[in-house]
Amino acid sequence: MIQSRHEHYLSLFPTEPAFRWKQIEQGLFSFASSWEDLTALSKYMRENIGSIPWMSVTEQQIQVSRNSDTHKALLRVEGDKDIETVLMRNKREAWTICVSSQIGCAMRCGFCATGKMGLIRNLTTDEIVDQYRYWMQYLKDHPELEGRISNIVFMGMGEPLANYEAVKDALNLILKHTDIGRTRITVSTVGVLPRLEQILTDKDWPHIRLAVSLHSAVAETRKQIVPTSYDDFLPKLGDWAKRYLYRHGNRRHHLTFEYVMLKGVNDTPDQARALAKFVNRIGNVRVNLIPYNLTGLEFECSTNPTIKAFLDVLQSKHVIATTRRTMGDDIDAACGQLAVKEKTSDT
Ligand code: SAH
Repeated sequence: MIQSRHEHYLSLFPTEPAFRWKQIEQGLFSFASSWEDLTALSKYMRENIGSIPWMSVTEQQIQVSRNSDTHKALLRVEGDKDIETVLMRNKREAWTICVSSQIGCAMRCGFCATGKMGLIRNLTTDEIVDQYRYWMQYLKDHPELEGRISNIVFMGMGEPLANYEAVKDALNLILKHTDIGRTRITVSTVGVLPRLEQILTDKDWPHIRLAVSLHSAVAETRKQIVPTSYDDFLPKLGDWAKRYLYRHGNRRHHLTFEYVMLKGVNDTPDQARALAKFVNRIGNVRVNLIPYNLTGLEFECSTNPTIKAFLDVLQSKHVIATTRRTMGDDIDAACGQLAVKEKTSDT
Protein backbone atom coordinates (compact mmCIF):
# COMPACT_ATOMS: atom_id res chain seq x y z
CA MET A 1 0.00 0.00 0.00
CA ILE A 2 1.19 3.48 -0.81
CA GLN A 3 1.11 5.75 2.20
CA SER A 4 -1.15 8.75 1.66
CA ARG A 5 -0.09 12.28 2.51
CA HIS A 6 -2.61 12.26 5.33
CA GLU A 7 -1.32 8.99 6.82
CA HIS A 8 2.22 10.28 6.58
CA TYR A 9 1.15 13.48 8.33
CA LEU A 10 -0.57 11.54 11.13
CA SER A 11 2.55 9.50 11.73
CA LEU A 12 4.62 12.69 12.01
CA PHE A 13 2.17 14.77 14.06
CA PRO A 14 -0.10 12.36 15.93
CA THR A 15 -1.26 14.87 18.52
CA GLU A 16 -2.15 17.88 16.36
CA PRO A 17 -5.78 19.01 16.44
CA ALA A 18 -7.86 17.92 13.44
CA PHE A 19 -8.31 21.42 12.03
CA ARG A 20 -4.57 21.58 11.36
CA TRP A 21 -4.83 18.96 8.62
CA LYS A 22 -7.75 20.85 7.06
CA GLN A 23 -5.51 23.92 6.96
CA ILE A 24 -2.75 21.93 5.28
CA GLU A 25 -5.16 20.42 2.78
CA GLN A 26 -6.31 23.91 1.86
CA GLY A 27 -2.70 24.93 1.44
CA LEU A 28 -2.14 22.07 -1.01
CA PHE A 29 -4.79 23.57 -3.31
CA SER A 30 -3.69 27.17 -2.81
CA PHE A 31 -1.19 29.15 -4.84
CA ALA A 32 1.61 27.79 -2.68
CA SER A 33 4.40 25.99 -4.52
CA SER A 34 5.99 24.19 -1.59
CA TRP A 35 5.60 23.55 2.12
CA GLU A 36 7.73 26.66 2.82
CA ASP A 37 5.00 28.80 1.28
CA LEU A 38 2.49 27.71 3.94
CA THR A 39 3.47 30.47 6.31
CA ALA A 40 0.44 29.98 8.57
CA LEU A 41 1.99 26.75 9.88
CA SER A 42 4.01 26.81 13.07
CA LYS A 43 7.79 26.89 12.80
CA TYR A 44 7.98 23.40 14.31
CA MET A 45 5.60 22.07 11.71
CA ARG A 46 7.34 23.74 8.79
CA GLU A 47 10.64 22.31 9.94
CA ASN A 48 9.26 18.78 10.05
CA ILE A 49 6.63 18.53 7.36
CA GLY A 50 9.22 18.53 4.56
CA SER A 51 9.57 14.76 4.65
CA ILE A 52 6.06 14.45 3.20
CA PRO A 53 6.31 14.84 -0.56
CA TRP A 54 4.62 18.09 -1.67
CA MET A 55 3.70 16.32 -4.91
CA SER A 56 3.12 12.61 -5.49
CA VAL A 57 3.81 13.02 -9.23
CA THR A 58 6.95 14.28 -10.93
CA GLU A 59 7.21 15.61 -14.44
CA GLN A 60 9.09 13.39 -16.87
CA GLN A 61 8.21 14.96 -20.17
CA ILE A 62 5.98 17.64 -21.67
CA GLN A 63 4.69 17.75 -25.22
CA VAL A 64 2.89 20.72 -26.72
CA SER A 65 0.71 20.54 -29.83
CA ARG A 66 1.64 22.71 -32.82
CA ASN A 67 -1.07 25.28 -32.07
CA SER A 68 -0.20 25.05 -28.34
CA ASP A 69 -3.80 24.46 -27.31
CA THR A 70 -2.97 20.97 -25.99
CA HIS A 71 -0.22 20.08 -23.53
CA LYS A 72 0.47 16.51 -22.51
CA ALA A 73 2.52 15.61 -19.45
CA LEU A 74 4.14 12.33 -18.64
CA LEU A 75 4.23 12.09 -14.85
CA ARG A 76 6.17 9.60 -12.78
CA VAL A 77 4.42 8.02 -9.80
CA GLU A 78 5.59 5.67 -7.07
CA GLY A 79 6.98 2.36 -8.30
CA ASP A 80 8.71 4.00 -11.29
CA LYS A 81 5.51 4.02 -13.31
CA ASP A 82 4.32 6.76 -15.62
CA ILE A 83 0.90 8.21 -16.29
CA GLU A 84 -0.33 10.78 -18.75
CA THR A 85 -2.49 13.83 -18.18
CA VAL A 86 -3.59 16.50 -20.63
CA LEU A 87 -4.31 20.25 -20.54
CA MET A 88 -6.61 21.53 -23.30
CA ARG A 89 -7.82 25.01 -24.21
CA ASN A 90 -11.64 25.08 -24.07
CA LYS A 91 -14.36 27.26 -25.55
CA ARG A 92 -14.61 29.30 -22.39
CA GLU A 93 -11.11 30.74 -22.90
CA ALA A 94 -10.04 28.60 -19.98
CA TRP A 95 -8.48 25.15 -19.66
CA THR A 96 -9.90 21.66 -19.33
CA ILE A 97 -7.70 19.02 -17.79
CA CYS A 98 -8.01 15.34 -18.57
CA VAL A 99 -6.88 13.16 -15.67
CA SER A 100 -5.97 9.49 -15.35
CA SER A 101 -7.46 7.25 -12.67
CA GLN A 102 -5.38 4.10 -13.16
CA ILE A 103 -2.00 3.10 -14.57
CA GLY A 104 -3.17 1.18 -17.60
CA CYS A 105 -6.67 -0.29 -17.73
CA ALA A 106 -8.23 -3.74 -17.45
CA MET A 107 -11.13 -3.11 -19.84
CA ARG A 108 -9.23 -3.85 -23.04
CA CYS A 109 -11.52 -1.93 -25.40
CA GLY A 110 -10.21 -2.87 -28.83
CA PHE A 111 -9.80 0.70 -30.08
CA CYS A 112 -8.10 2.19 -27.00
CA ALA A 113 -4.33 2.38 -26.57
CA THR A 114 -4.53 2.32 -22.76
CA GLY A 115 -6.47 -0.96 -22.93
CA LYS A 116 -3.51 -2.58 -24.65
CA MET A 117 -1.32 -1.99 -21.56
CA GLY A 118 -3.49 -4.03 -19.20
CA LEU A 119 -3.96 -2.80 -15.65
CA ILE A 120 -0.82 -2.03 -13.67
CA ARG A 121 -2.39 -0.46 -10.61
CA ASN A 122 -4.99 1.98 -9.35
CA LEU A 123 -3.87 5.55 -8.73
CA THR A 124 -4.20 6.87 -5.20
CA THR A 125 -6.36 9.87 -4.30
CA ASP A 126 -3.19 11.95 -3.91
CA GLU A 127 -1.99 10.94 -7.37
CA ILE A 128 -5.34 11.89 -8.90
CA VAL A 129 -5.65 15.30 -7.24
CA ASP A 130 -1.97 15.99 -7.87
CA GLN A 131 -2.60 15.90 -11.62
CA TYR A 132 -4.83 18.92 -11.04
CA ARG A 133 -2.23 20.50 -8.72
CA TYR A 134 0.47 19.80 -11.28
CA TRP A 135 -1.41 21.72 -14.02
CA MET A 136 -2.16 24.55 -11.60
CA GLN A 137 1.56 24.93 -10.99
CA TYR A 138 2.25 24.58 -14.73
CA LEU A 139 -0.10 27.47 -15.55
CA LYS A 140 1.53 29.51 -12.80
CA ASP A 141 4.94 28.82 -14.35
CA HIS A 142 3.63 29.72 -17.85
CA PRO A 143 1.72 32.98 -17.38
CA GLU A 144 1.64 33.43 -21.17
CA LEU A 145 -0.89 30.59 -21.33
CA GLU A 146 -3.45 32.71 -19.48
CA GLY A 147 -6.69 31.41 -18.06
CA ARG A 148 -7.58 29.09 -15.25
CA ILE A 149 -8.60 25.45 -15.09
CA SER A 150 -12.38 25.53 -15.40
CA ASN A 151 -13.22 21.91 -16.22
CA ILE A 152 -11.96 18.45 -15.38
CA VAL A 153 -12.67 15.28 -17.32
CA PHE A 154 -11.81 11.83 -16.01
CA MET A 155 -11.02 10.57 -19.50
CA GLY A 156 -7.33 9.83 -19.22
CA MET A 157 -5.85 6.42 -18.61
CA GLY A 158 -7.99 3.93 -16.72
CA GLU A 159 -11.58 3.15 -15.83
CA PRO A 160 -12.56 5.59 -13.05
CA LEU A 161 -15.33 3.42 -11.62
CA ALA A 162 -12.93 0.50 -11.27
CA ASN A 163 -11.09 2.76 -8.79
CA TYR A 164 -14.27 4.00 -7.16
CA GLU A 165 -13.15 5.03 -3.67
CA ALA A 166 -10.03 6.92 -4.73
CA VAL A 167 -11.92 8.70 -7.52
CA LYS A 168 -14.75 9.61 -5.16
CA ASP A 169 -12.33 11.03 -2.58
CA ALA A 170 -10.48 12.97 -5.29
CA LEU A 171 -13.76 14.44 -6.58
CA ASN A 172 -14.79 15.51 -3.08
CA LEU A 173 -11.42 17.12 -2.42
CA ILE A 174 -11.50 19.03 -5.70
CA LEU A 175 -15.06 20.21 -5.07
CA LYS A 176 -14.14 21.29 -1.56
CA HIS A 177 -10.92 23.13 -2.31
CA THR A 178 -11.35 24.60 -5.79
CA ASP A 179 -13.93 26.81 -7.48
CA ILE A 180 -14.74 24.07 -10.00
CA GLY A 181 -18.39 23.11 -9.63
CA ARG A 182 -20.13 19.79 -10.14
CA THR A 183 -21.33 20.59 -13.65
CA ARG A 184 -17.74 21.27 -14.75
CA ILE A 185 -16.48 17.82 -13.87
CA THR A 186 -17.20 14.75 -15.99
CA VAL A 187 -16.38 11.17 -15.11
CA SER A 188 -16.36 8.92 -18.16
CA THR A 189 -17.03 5.23 -17.63
CA VAL A 190 -17.22 2.12 -19.76
CA GLY A 191 -20.35 1.38 -17.69
CA VAL A 192 -19.40 -0.67 -14.63
CA LEU A 193 -22.98 -1.47 -13.61
CA PRO A 194 -22.44 -2.42 -9.93
CA ARG A 195 -20.64 0.90 -9.40
CA LEU A 196 -23.26 2.83 -11.35
CA GLU A 197 -25.85 1.27 -9.02
CA GLN A 198 -23.75 2.25 -6.02
CA ILE A 199 -23.69 5.86 -7.18
CA LEU A 200 -27.47 5.97 -6.90
CA THR A 201 -27.43 5.32 -3.17
CA ASP A 202 -23.98 6.44 -2.03
CA LYS A 203 -24.54 9.67 -0.12
CA ASP A 204 -20.85 10.55 -0.41
CA TRP A 205 -20.81 10.29 -4.20
CA PRO A 206 -20.85 13.86 -5.54
CA HIS A 207 -23.20 14.35 -8.46
CA ILE A 208 -20.78 15.49 -11.06
CA ARG A 209 -21.58 14.77 -14.71
CA LEU A 210 -21.38 11.21 -15.95
CA ALA A 211 -20.58 10.05 -19.45
CA VAL A 212 -21.04 6.42 -20.40
CA SER A 213 -18.99 4.99 -23.25
CA LEU A 214 -21.74 3.26 -25.19
CA HIS A 215 -20.16 2.89 -28.63
CA SER A 216 -23.06 0.83 -29.94
CA ALA A 217 -26.69 0.23 -29.02
CA VAL A 218 -26.52 -3.15 -30.75
CA ALA A 219 -25.50 -5.81 -28.22
CA GLU A 220 -23.40 -7.85 -30.61
CA THR A 221 -21.45 -4.85 -31.91
CA ARG A 222 -20.85 -3.49 -28.43
CA LYS A 223 -19.49 -6.83 -27.29
CA GLN A 224 -17.18 -6.93 -30.26
CA ILE A 225 -15.53 -3.58 -29.43
CA VAL A 226 -15.99 -3.44 -25.64
CA PRO A 227 -15.07 -6.94 -24.44
CA THR A 228 -16.39 -6.33 -20.91
CA SER A 229 -19.90 -5.91 -22.31
CA TYR A 230 -22.41 -8.76 -22.05
CA ASP A 231 -25.77 -9.83 -23.48
CA ASP A 232 -28.12 -7.91 -21.24
CA PHE A 233 -25.81 -4.94 -20.66
CA LEU A 234 -27.89 -2.58 -22.81
CA PRO A 235 -31.30 -3.15 -21.16
CA LYS A 236 -29.63 -2.99 -17.75
CA LEU A 237 -27.86 0.26 -18.61
CA GLY A 238 -31.12 1.69 -19.97
CA ASP A 239 -32.93 0.78 -16.78
CA TRP A 240 -30.16 2.26 -14.63
CA ALA A 241 -30.10 5.45 -16.72
CA LYS A 242 -33.82 6.02 -16.23
CA ARG A 243 -33.48 5.67 -12.46
CA TYR A 244 -30.39 7.89 -12.42
CA LEU A 245 -32.13 10.65 -14.35
CA TYR A 246 -35.27 10.30 -12.23
CA ARG A 247 -33.20 10.98 -9.11
CA HIS A 248 -30.58 13.37 -10.33
CA GLY A 249 -31.66 14.68 -13.70
CA ASN A 250 -32.85 18.19 -14.32
CA ARG A 251 -32.44 20.68 -17.11
CA ARG A 252 -28.77 21.11 -16.30
CA HIS A 253 -28.05 17.57 -15.31
CA HIS A 254 -28.19 15.17 -18.19
CA LEU A 255 -26.39 11.96 -18.96
CA THR A 256 -23.97 11.68 -21.86
CA PHE A 257 -23.36 8.66 -24.03
CA GLU A 258 -20.02 8.64 -25.80
CA TYR A 259 -19.75 6.95 -29.14
CA VAL A 260 -16.45 6.48 -30.92
CA MET A 261 -16.98 6.41 -34.70
CA LEU A 262 -15.40 3.29 -36.18
CA LYS A 263 -15.59 2.86 -39.93
CA GLY A 264 -17.87 0.02 -41.00
CA VAL A 265 -18.31 -1.17 -37.40
CA ASN A 266 -20.80 1.07 -35.59
CA ASP A 267 -21.33 3.96 -38.01
CA THR A 268 -24.13 2.68 -40.28
CA PRO A 269 -27.63 4.22 -40.48
CA ASP A 270 -28.98 1.06 -38.80
CA GLN A 271 -26.64 1.62 -35.87
CA ALA A 272 -27.76 5.27 -35.71
CA ARG A 273 -31.40 4.20 -35.60
CA ALA A 274 -30.67 1.66 -32.86
CA LEU A 275 -28.87 4.37 -30.89
CA ALA A 276 -31.74 6.83 -31.31
CA LYS A 277 -34.25 4.23 -30.17
CA PHE A 278 -32.17 3.36 -27.12
CA VAL A 279 -31.65 7.01 -26.17
CA ASN A 280 -35.26 8.03 -26.71
CA ARG A 281 -36.46 5.34 -24.36
CA ILE A 282 -34.35 6.87 -21.59
CA GLY A 283 -34.89 10.62 -21.72
CA ASN A 284 -32.47 13.44 -20.96
CA VAL A 285 -29.45 11.96 -22.71
CA ARG A 286 -26.94 13.65 -24.99
CA VAL A 287 -24.82 11.79 -27.47
CA ASN A 288 -21.21 12.76 -28.05
CA LEU A 289 -19.69 11.30 -31.20
CA ILE A 290 -15.92 10.92 -30.95
CA PRO A 291 -13.95 10.66 -34.19
CA TYR A 292 -11.71 7.64 -33.73
CA ASN A 293 -8.10 8.57 -33.08
CA LEU A 294 -5.64 6.14 -34.53
CA THR A 295 -4.10 3.73 -32.03
CA GLY A 296 -3.30 0.78 -34.23
CA LEU A 297 -4.25 -0.84 -37.48
CA GLU A 298 -7.40 -2.64 -36.38
CA PHE A 299 -9.85 0.22 -36.87
CA GLU A 300 -10.29 3.26 -39.06
CA CYS A 301 -12.18 6.45 -38.32
CA SER A 302 -15.51 6.91 -40.06
CA THR A 303 -15.36 9.41 -42.91
CA ASN A 304 -16.74 12.91 -42.41
CA PRO A 305 -19.76 12.28 -44.67
CA THR A 306 -20.56 9.10 -42.70
CA ILE A 307 -20.35 10.98 -39.41
CA LYS A 308 -22.57 13.70 -40.86
CA ALA A 309 -25.12 11.12 -42.08
CA PHE A 310 -25.05 9.41 -38.66
CA LEU A 311 -25.71 12.78 -36.97
CA ASP A 312 -28.54 13.48 -39.41
CA VAL A 313 -30.29 10.23 -38.49
CA LEU A 314 -29.92 11.05 -34.78
CA GLN A 315 -31.19 14.59 -35.26
CA SER A 316 -34.14 13.46 -37.36
CA LYS A 317 -35.12 11.40 -34.32
CA HIS A 318 -34.68 14.38 -32.01
CA VAL A 319 -31.57 13.08 -30.30
CA ILE A 320 -29.28 15.85 -29.07
CA ALA A 321 -25.88 14.96 -30.45
CA THR A 322 -22.57 16.71 -30.90
CA THR A 323 -19.24 15.72 -32.40
CA ARG A 324 -16.19 16.06 -30.20
CA ARG A 325 -13.35 18.23 -31.44
CA THR A 326 -10.17 16.25 -31.81
CA MET A 327 -7.32 17.92 -29.95
CA GLY A 328 -3.69 17.08 -29.54
CA ASP A 329 -3.61 14.17 -31.97
CA ASP A 330 -0.22 15.39 -33.24
CA ILE A 331 1.22 14.59 -29.79
CA ASP A 332 -0.82 11.39 -29.20
CA ALA A 333 -2.84 13.19 -26.54
CA ALA A 334 -6.27 12.66 -28.10
CA CYS A 335 -8.91 10.29 -26.66
CA GLY A 336 -7.68 6.76 -26.38
CA GLN A 337 -4.12 7.57 -27.33
CA LEU A 338 -2.79 7.72 -23.79
CA ALA A 339 -0.47 4.82 -23.21
CA VAL A 340 2.95 4.59 -21.75
CA LYS A 341 5.41 2.11 -23.10
CA GLU A 342 6.92 0.00 -20.37
CA LYS A 343 10.60 0.72 -19.92
CA THR A 344 12.85 -2.13 -20.87
CA SER A 345 14.56 -3.75 -17.90
CA ASP A 346 18.08 -2.65 -18.80
CA THR A 347 17.29 1.09 -18.71
N1 SAH B 1 -12.47 4.23 -19.17
C1 SAH B 1 -13.28 5.40 -19.42
C2 SAH B 1 -12.46 6.58 -19.91
C3 SAH B 1 -11.87 6.36 -21.27
S1 SAH B 1 -11.27 7.69 -22.24
C4 SAH B 1 -14.36 5.07 -20.41
O1 SAH B 1 -14.35 3.98 -20.98
O2 SAH B 1 -15.25 5.89 -20.62
C5 SAH B 1 -12.65 8.62 -22.72
C6 SAH B 1 -13.34 8.22 -24.03
O3 SAH B 1 -12.44 8.06 -25.11
C7 SAH B 1 -14.11 6.93 -23.90
O4 SAH B 1 -15.39 7.09 -24.41
C8 SAH B 1 -13.30 6.00 -24.75
O5 SAH B 1 -14.07 4.93 -25.23
C9 SAH B 1 -12.84 6.92 -25.84
N2 SAH B 1 -11.73 6.39 -26.65
C10 SAH B 1 -10.86 5.41 -26.32
N3 SAH B 1 -10.01 5.19 -27.32
C11 SAH B 1 -10.33 6.05 -28.31
C12 SAH B 1 -9.78 6.32 -29.60
N4 SAH B 1 -8.72 5.66 -30.05
N5 SAH B 1 -10.36 7.28 -30.33
C13 SAH B 1 -11.41 7.98 -29.86
N6 SAH B 1 -11.96 7.78 -28.65
C14 SAH B 1 -11.43 6.82 -27.88
